[in-house]
Amino acid sequence: MRSNIRTRPAWLLVAAIALIATACNSAANGAEPTPTATATPEPTVAPTEVPATPEPTPTPLSNFDACVLDAERRPELTWVINKTRPLPDGYAPDDLVVLANELVVPGFEGRQLDAESAEHFADLIAAAADEGFDIRTRSTYRSFEEQTWTFAYWVEQLGQEQAERVSAMPGHSEHQLGTTADVATAAVGWQLSEALGTTPEGIWLFENAYRFGFAESYPVDGEPITGYSYEPWHLRYIGIACAATWHESELTLVEFLEALEEYG
Ligand SMILES: [Zn+2]
Repeated sequence: MRSNIRTRPAWLLVAAIALIATACNSAANGAEPTPTATATPEPTVAPTEVPATPEPTPTPLSNFDACVLDAERRPELTWVINKTRPLPDGYAPDDLVVLANELVVPGFEGRQLDAESAEHFADLIAAAADEGFDIRTRSTYRSFEEQTWTFAYWVEQLGQEQAERVSAMPGHSEHQLGTTADVATAAVGWQLSEALGTTPEGIWLFENAYRFGFAESYPVDGEPITGYSYEPWHLRYIGIACAATWHESELTLVEFLEALEEYG
């Protein structure tokens, strides 16, 4: 469980990711036969039949190694985005797709995610449906301009200090990546509500979203580390391998991504 959060020193994060990497690598290496260097004597006569060379069996990548490759393939998947680390100026995803209506809260149609995140979000929602859960998104990609309006709305509603606890400044939102979706259910009135976390749907998401590549960025009691209050509805796609490694690490997402960055 990642519910018991306290501030951890930076060296511990680096140690944690190093441990994960070591564990994953040693597991992978354990499955790999160690090549032995033996001198092959020259044959004195030509063999009449050349034995077939067996195809080498590829060693399966550990989740950690696959995560590192994913981070190289699409660095933005694992960028650290928080109050002090903005997105690059003018960043916008280049392969946004419109989500199917059945994935979206009625009245919020037309929401977009980048193509890879959209595919995995559809898988997540389908798996939830198999459990009898109707989970949908009401907010996905937000451009810099849309985040400017969103943040201004919250400042007007709550004042600057409270707004900064619940909404990101323009240029500092994971939603601008096009990989992040806020979800809701009928049980919470299709609103973005902390109450989601204690419903069967919210508990299922907490325990299973990582299998589809999604991480909950803002866990309960995580505010001293993340800077944001609890958001059980906010799911960021970071790739299946990285999400599996993150889940195993029991770190908050930002700690995990910082440690991954440090490792790389
Ligand atoms: Zn969100």
